[in-house]
Amino acid sequence: MTSAIVVGSGPNGLAAAARLARAGLEVTVLEAADTVGGGTRSSEMIVPGLLHDHCSAFHPIAAASPFLDGLDLGARGLTWLQPEIDCVHPLDDGSAGVFHQSIDRTVAALGVDGNRWRQVFGVLSEHFDDVLADAAQPILRIPRHPLLLARFGAVAALPATALARVWKTEQARALWAGVAAHVYHRLDRPLTSAVGAMLFVAGHSRGWLVAEGGSQAIADALVADIRAHGGIVETGCKVGDVADLPPTDVLMLDVSPSIAADILGDRLPRRVARAYRHYRHGPGAFKVDFAIDGAVPWTVPQARAAGTVHLGGDFDEVVAAELTVHRGAMPERPFVLVGQQYLADPSRSVGDIHPLWTYAHVPHGYTGDATQAIVDQIERFAPGFSERVVGMAVRSTTEMSVYNPNYIGGDIIGGLSSPLRLVFRPRVALDPYSTGIAGTYLCSASTPPGAGAHGMCGANAASRALSELGIATD
Ligand SMILES: Cc1cc2nc3c(=O)[nH]c(=O)nc-3n(C[C@H](O)[C@H](O)[C@H](O)COP(=O)(O)OP(=O)(O)OC[C@H]3O[C@@H](n4cnc5c(N)ncnc54)[C@H](O)[C@@H]3O)c2cc1C
Repeated sequence: MTSAIVVGSGPNGLAAAARLARAGLEVTVLEAADTVGGGTRSSEMIVPGLLHDHCSAFHPIAAASPFLDGLDLGARGLTWLQPEIDCVHPLDDGSAGVFHQSIDRTVAALGVDGNRWRQVFGVLSEHFDDVLADAAQPILRIPRHPLLLARFGAVAALPATALARVWKTEQARALWAGVAAHVYHRLDRPLTSAVGAMLFVAGHSRGWLVAEGGSQAIADALVADIRAHGGIVETGCKVGDVADLPPTDVLMLDVSPSIAADILGDRLPRRVARAYRHYRHGPGAFKVDFAIDGAVPWTVPQARAAGTVHLGGDFDEVVAAELTVHRGAMPERPFVLVGQQYLADPSRSVGDIHPLWTYAHVPHGYTGDATQAIVDQIERFAPGFSERVVGMAVRSTTEMSVYNPNYIGGDIIGGLSSPLRLVFRPRVALDPYSTGIAGTYLCSASTPPGAGAHGMCGANAASRALSELGIATD
């Protein structure tokens, strides 16, 4: 029987394993941590019974993932839930940019900017599945929907600061800046509209969904699928050297390029080793999870019903904070993301005590403590917040990289989003998943289509492996 070993059980490792197991390979997943899931783990952290997402929280793209969708993970316990409002970006004057799954509601909420919003995102979100079918693949291939891809590309190629000129109101511009900032790069560079545009069109198509019972449910459903197809998933198995592994036909590495270089050592062709060793990582995340008594006292009423709240002030302030972080300095007021998943999924709370998920964009490898900066940003838009805090758990950039070795310097998106690396990651190559060693592939978020819990990097890498073995994929 043809065998496969998958190193790492993040959503991409698990997706690769599921595709290989479904194709009849004998699959073993080896995970360094004690629990499966990588960036989709959830657990109690502060108060017994209170459930926190350690990393990924909102899943507009995972919910539409062409691969995950085809697995029927619902039958394996995955249920998507939606908050009443998907995302709110409050401003100091008490107004806000408000994003709903419904484009009509968003357009109405944006007033004079509504029509422009529809012009930019309307057609793309109506045909989102076709857009994603191409955008979730490496760039060097013949697209299935070239006109739609070209339409998406025309938006994605712009610097986020250039696309912002389409909107007149500060509410629309700030809403755009906060979502564009998910690209984790200075926002005046080409292609920095790509991630924001993808999150908005995916959001209009599916909503910014949370997994019932925590994002861990995504990993658990994938593990159930792998086991149902004969695969084995082992935790507590850190792989340091390929020489320690039994012989295998396929080796999938759900790790950062530099970790792959360590594992593969001298076997890696020199040009690939150089690319993996010099692969650059982006700014970091400083994460604080809170247990709060009652709701966050947001000034803006819509924020009280929103799954995600973006805190960074107006458009110029978000752009300046991202530039500062990109240059390696800590802004006084960093961009902060707040997740209120419990609004969609009350099972995560214990009575009136709720889990609040937050992180700030900080410089790569930031060694300071951003806890107070996060609290101050929340207090700015929700005075009295601190009095509701009954406990917190803090993860610095260093602790992030201990929690998950892929988060080098606190980089949670698998590499710097430079224009080159948004298109060609982890290196310029016809097959970005190939390590140059027969049967050995990189399948982490450092490969196309990049970060997120959608599993498409793993599914694509597994398809490459199967096609090289001459096995048709499902
Ligand atoms: C704070 C935060 C918020 C996020 N928010 C979102 C969100 O809302 N929505 C979204 O879609 N995404 C979000 N993400 C990103 C998402 O979690 C990642 O893009 C995704 O998990 C990447 O998946 P992966 O499979 O490539 O790698 P990972 O999830 O990083 O998994 C890699 C696994 O490999 C294991 N590993 C590493 N080295 C070895 C080794 N040598 N031997 C064995 N195992 C090893 C690690 O322990 C880990 O379990 C967030 C991430 C963070 C940290």
